[in-house]
Amino acid sequence: MSDEVGVRSGRSIQVLQVSAELFPWLKTGGLADVTGALPGALSRYGVELRPLLPGLPAFTRAVTECRAVTAIQTPWGDDLQIKCVRFASSDFGWAYLIVAPHLYERDGSPYETKDRQAFGDNHRRFAALSWGAKALADGSDPTWQVSLVHAHDWHAGLTPLYLKFHHALHVNPIPCLLTIHNLAYQGLFAPKHLHELAIPEACWHLDGVEFFGQISMLKAGIAYADRVNTVSPRYAREIQDPAQGHGMHGFLRLHAARLSGILNGIDTQIWDPAHDPMIAKRYSSISLIDKEENVLALTSILGLDNDARGPRCAVISRLAEQKGLSLIVQAAPTMIRDGAQLVVLGNGDAAMERQFEVLQGQYPGKVSFRSDFDERLAHQMIAGSDLILVPSRFEPCGLTQMYGMRYGCLPLVHLVGGLADTVRPWRFANETALIGTVNPANGFGFDQHCIESFVACWQEMLQCWKMKPIWKRLQSRGMSLALGWDVAAGNYAALYDQMLFRDARHP
Ligand code: ADP
Repeated sequence: MSDEVGVRSGRSIQVLQVSAELFPWLKTGGLADVTGALPGALSRYGVELRPLLPGLPAFTRAVTECRAVTAIQTPWGDDLQIKCVRFASSDFGWAYLIVAPHLYERDGSPYETKDRQAFGDNHRRFAALSWGAKALADGSDPTWQVSLVHAHDWHAGLTPLYLKFHHALHVNPIPCLLTIHNLAYQGLFAPKHLHELAIPEACWHLDGVEFFGQISMLKAGIAYADRVNTVSPRYAREIQDPAQGHGMHGFLRLHAARLSGILNGIDTQIWDPAHDPMIAKRYSSISLIDKEENVLALTSILGLDNDARGPRCAVISRLAEQKGLSLIVQAAPTMIRDGAQLVVLGNGDAAMERQFEVLQGQYPGKVSFRSDFDERLAHQMIAGSDLILVPSRFEPCGLTQMYGMRYGCLPLVHLVGGLADTVRPWRFANETALIGTVNPANGFGFDQHCIESFVACWQEMLQCWKMKPIWKRLQSRGMSLALGWDVAAGNYAALYDQMLFRDARHP
């Protein structure tokens, strides 16, 4: 692994990171955590990574310094101003913003109206992001020459296509890495937009942007990026099979030589129980007793009973089919009967929100549901719970199981994707079999996404819960794991290095 990519080449490596979200200014899920962490983590490897973002209100409001770079027009007629900016309280350097109020200055999420309807012009809004990336790669900012472009998810999926087919003749094509955070979101648009978005006719085929009769921006990214990665090695393998491939498995298998997996890290400064300003009492693996104060604080914040016999179980999640939370709804009566409490923080699917409201009504003091996106409460819940439940049907990486480990809140997960890459399940049978060796267990896991498998895992977890010294050992082990970004950043640096200096460049 290269640890000083920039030094190795004798020139600094300048990576343009293209994404719709960036923690802490705008986050709807794990994408923001990753794009927010990479600039800092990669600087240690001699890589300067500058984010390029659409000028959404959350970003424009946070700007403290600003320099105009260029004004361009997309082939479809949108005027864009590219600005080089710094954000308030940013611990990394410069970023680029595409200022285009008619595209981005709106209420709602980056992708939807307040009523959760996708914006009708999303094809133009996100194609503009990719077009801006192409302009910077072509040298629009003479003070900062892009060495490599790192695009994230379908929002930036047209970037490699524009780099390949529209790059300025005076510059060499810039290599492009695409990171897939979730294959389920494919950026699908009607084929009538092909010409409007300056996608060459020659790209409209099975091995290009065409996906069951529609344009897929994600598929465009996969087809034309030099390298593609997912956010865990296991997910990179799973998406090549029909069960997890969302219709793209054959295409991905065809391109498997360019596909790899790099496991996400977590921000161990923001998620650190020993220094977390958002929790009632700070603690570490040697002062685990202090976690109790956080349990009590959460009891009062959420109005829970304080006589629970079983573990307090947290769910912090988007409420979406992917997250497999129907298992929790089904298992809740068993969990409550076993003396557990259930605290759920999440929003999204309206039917699922109602199911959790009903559960809360059925089990007052035992079940709490908050329909919200609340970073502070997420910290308080992980500090104040014993278990974090992540029963996802599929999970590209998953972050909350790692936050849980760091806070002595053991993960109980469906063993797929990044969950399988991070959680080593405790087995009752192994507890005696492994005496004298190092038992790597750090949580609990089930293999089949069905209620029987979940309940069997629940019962096994309860056996461990009753053996407090063993439970504590699992907590301490999770809390001492190296979950930070160092390893992932090293792997990204090595991949950049490979792309810049070793890969045969695509024609
Ligand atoms: P995904 O990206 O699929 O939503 P991840 O586990 O990769 O799932 O990342 C989710 C991120 O969003 C985590 O940082 C998690 O703590 C956070 N999160 C999800 N839902 C909420 C919520 N309702 N309130 C606060 N944070 C949330």
